[in-house]
Amino acid sequence: MKKSTAISLHIPPKMWSEFRESMLKSRMFNEEVIGFLFCQRHQVSKSKIRYIPKTWVVPASDCYEHQSTSGLVLKQHFHSYLLENHLQVGLDVVHIHTHTGQGIPDFSHTDDRYESEYARFISSNFPKKPYLISGVFDENLQSGQFRIWDRKGQKFEYLNFCNSLFEVSKFEDVINHDDSIFARQKIFGKGNQKALNQLKVLLIGCGGIGSIFAELLGRLGVKNWVLVDPDRLETTNLNRMPSATQEMVEQQWHKVHYVKHLIKKIYSEGSSVKTIVTTVESELAKQEIATCDLIVVATDNHFSRKTAQELALQYMRPLVCLGTHIDMKSDNTPRMYCRVTVPPLGGAWCLMCGNIINLQRAALESAPLAINQIAANAGYLEGVNDPAVFWLNSICASTGVGVIHGMVSGFLNVDSGIDWIYEFPDGNWRKTNTEYLQNDDCYFCGMGSLEEVVEDSDFEDSDFEDSDFLGSDVEDSDFDNSDFFVW
Ligand SMILES: [Zn+2]
Ligand SMILES: [Zn+2]
Repeated sequence: MKKSTAISLHIPPKMWSEFRESMLKSRMFNEEVIGFLFCQRHQVSKSKIRYIPKTWVVPASDCYEHQSTSGLVLKQHFHSYLLENHLQVGLDVVHIHTHTGQGIPDFSHTDDRYESEYARFISSNFPKKPYLISGVFDENLQSGQFRIWDRKGQKFEYLNFCNSLFEVSKFEDVINHDDSIFARQKIFGKGNQKALNQLKVLLIGCGGIGSIFAELLGRLGVKNWVLVDPDRLETTNLNRMPSATQEMVEQQWHKVHYVKHLIKKIYSEGSSVKTIVTTVESELAKQEIATCDLIVVATDNHFSRKTAQELALQYMRPLVCLGTHIDMKSDNTPRMYCRVTVPPLGGAWCLMCGNIINLQRAALESAPLAINQIAANAGYLEGVNDPAVFWLNSICASTGVGVIHGMVSGFLNVDSGIDWIYEFPDGNWRKTNTEYLQNDDCYFCGMGSLEEVVEDSDFEDSDFEDSDFLGSDVEDSDFDNSDFFVW
């Protein structure tokens, strides 16, 4: 661990509040409580590492040998079960415990001693050599701090903790080359404007919806973009892409370069726009996902939406999905829809289990050309001839930008996700009740069965022996097993 590397732990707001609630509930009297998060490590860039939780466990009071204000001892077989299940697959441990009182507590000397041993113990007993991150919080789990230990248990480093949707800071000084651009947005607060100015958005699909979206979100203050789209501008795009010209079509502009041009017209300096002329399935695009604060998908195909959702789950990035649909009723009057979907960060439901996208169609779209031809002939794929108009795309893009404005500023709660469908000419927004979308065992977004308070009785029939768990390669002979479970 080099000093220059920034390490952060990003826990989605909903997961943190559920975890926190479980911790508080597991307390019987006034004693300390502990909980575990098992995290995946993402190397975001050369100088940034982010930990994101894959699952969490809060032991119920019957999982302890002792539980008091002075320390905790977890039952050995329970603790072994936890580590066996999570560390074999390459996750790192986040151990959180509380101290009595309010305000940010300090790690005690006892914490130092046991955490050091624990860090050494897990790294020498599991083939993937997991790291230990430890956190100490006040009794209400309101304020706390985290540190990460090296594998020898000799040194630690403090890390940044984020339990909001975005890691951007509302307090950081941002250089705005011309602050007066945002004079009419002052009402939303200076901090929120700063957050928008720092936000980095990955936009998948720079077509009819994506381009308007970029223009609008750009004007709101978003200056950092990664644009992903393999296509070039065509004449058939000109009915719905702002400022696109016949000349650009003749010069065979890529759509990503055209959208970059839109952003650069707003910010001649101080903006950063990366263009990737390929689909989101490519490695190049995937590498960018972790570096972004938000993924927006505005493509006309289900396969790229599915991929975007999978990546959003894998890297735990918020996702906003935009789409429109137009068809004709039998009496020749049009039905027009637009849809804005934000699946909850960190699971509960996703585009796949919420039936927001059609998996069968996604599979067809990823199939080789010949199969696609057959499917198209059978009427399965509509493709580029999907009807689309500028004004309907604009309603969709505008609403998407409004939702993001609310997510950044905090005036819209998307913790349980949202799915809004606008119908025209009725002119109604229908809001899907997201409770109906929740799905505990989705193949894509299921978090595993341990995401809960576990009772000791759940493990009584676990058949491994303590000695198996510790193995023969424990080097330090004075390791006393029971010590590892004390905090
Ligand atoms: Zn402590
Ligand atoms: Zn799902």
